[in-house]
Amino acid sequence: MGKQDYQEYIKRFDGYLKKYIPSKDAWTPVDDALYTPPNLFRIPLKEAYEMQLKSIKYTFLHQYTDNKFYQNFCKERNFSPDDIKTLDDLDKIPLIPDSFFKDYPTGKDFALWLGNIFTGSLPRIVIKESNPTYDEVINAFNNAGMTVSYSSGTSGRYTFIPRDQRTFFISEYAAAKSVISMIYPLWDYHMHGYLLMPNPKKTNVYAGKVCTIYFDAIQDVRVAIDRDITTELIQMTMTDQKGVKSKIVKYFAKRESEKMIDEIIRWLESHEKTNEKIALVGAPFILSFVMKKLQKEGRGFDFNERGGVVTGGGWKAYEGVRVPVSDFRKQVEKILGIPEKYCLDIYGMVEGNGWMVHCPEGHYLHSPYSYFKPLVLDSEYKPVGYGEWGRFAFLDAAAFSYPGFIMSGDKVRMLEHCPVCDRPGPVLEPEIKRASGEEIRGCAEEVRRMLSADLGKET
Ligand SMILES: [Zn+2]
Repeated sequence: MGKQDYQEYIKRFDGYLKKYIPSKDAWTPVDDALYTPPNLFRIPLKEAYEMQLKSIKYTFLHQYTDNKFYQNFCKERNFSPDDIKTLDDLDKIPLIPDSFFKDYPTGKDFALWLGNIFTGSLPRIVIKESNPTYDEVINAFNNAGMTVSYSSGTSGRYTFIPRDQRTFFISEYAAAKSVISMIYPLWDYHMHGYLLMPNPKKTNVYAGKVCTIYFDAIQDVRVAIDRDITTELIQMTMTDQKGVKSKIVKYFAKRESEKMIDEIIRWLESHEKTNEKIALVGAPFILSFVMKKLQKEGRGFDFNERGGVVTGGGWKAYEGVRVPVSDFRKQVEKILGIPEKYCLDIYGMVEGNGWMVHCPEGHYLHSPYSYFKPLVLDSEYKPVGYGEWGRFAFLDAAAFSYPGFIMSGDKVRMLEHCPVCDRPGPVLEPEIKRASGEEIRGCAEEVRRMLSADLGKET
């Protein structure tokens, strides 16, 4: 498994994903920083930081010039593109609090609000309804070729982000490339995949949507949740809404969840008899329920050296049924026979296009650093050094269609170097916490709630 083998591996991957890579004559410094390096986590620091400065500077100028709202935001803070000269200057780029993306009106005003966040010229959006729901507005944008997606919190507020096709492709490609390089050499186009998420074609939840690329990276993909997932449905399952409709939704959600778990077990059984590679990708709690059931029945599988598990999202609201990532990995090894090096977790968010992925050796979250700059902020929102806890923020050059200079509500600790492996870039501690007082939210969270709050108690 030399350097040459890896180059071949990633070349094959790029070969299957050609449609995600723009033609070279249209490349910007952002495309350079993302598509050129064969491995986003092994770029020599000097080279990567040159790319980081160029790409973030490029995108900042674009946002400042083409987004009136962000320009005003910067002007109020006395910051302009001329203020970026060195790498250190990047830390001064005005950051938008993630709560801003949750602060939206209803009906047609919601469409206007989305249009204001959007950078550049919008395609023609046709909304037929006089008082449209969120889903109707989103679908109108998406019918015009965009990908408006969201993630929701426990209070029922959503984080809405408008991506154009280019930003969506770059985000998907970055996610897939980040995972495939960490799980080397397991990925193979001819492997069989299970998506532990809603069907990307039937939802606008970003954690599901971003998995569209899974269908291009692997020839055969099964989907765990194959029905339409709307904001209304999530609202009913996320909150304690009363009423007959809500009851019916919850009843069916529970029945469907049981069916889903049985189907995943049947799929594992059918692949046990072959020598083919398998990959389970998606929300960790779904696999956790599958493993609980198998354990109860005293059963297990052996997918050693031909199986992988990639999880994304959180358990945060479910301390009761939550399994710490390290225990989860041990369970996967014990029950599915998949070694820890092939059980990786991803940390990402609907607002960003940088994907932090566990390294196979130490399971620290490695951040991309050629087109994306992770930051940790103190209580006054000023960047702190390595080794200190604080609020996670980022400068994301890959966000073309909205300003991707954002502070999140997550609490993290960043280290200059992975304590275990030799990849050169910065890492986050393996598990992410929500900053105190922040509402709970995780990529997988809304999906988990939707499936049924009772499932965890029963199995
Ligand atoms: Zn590492």
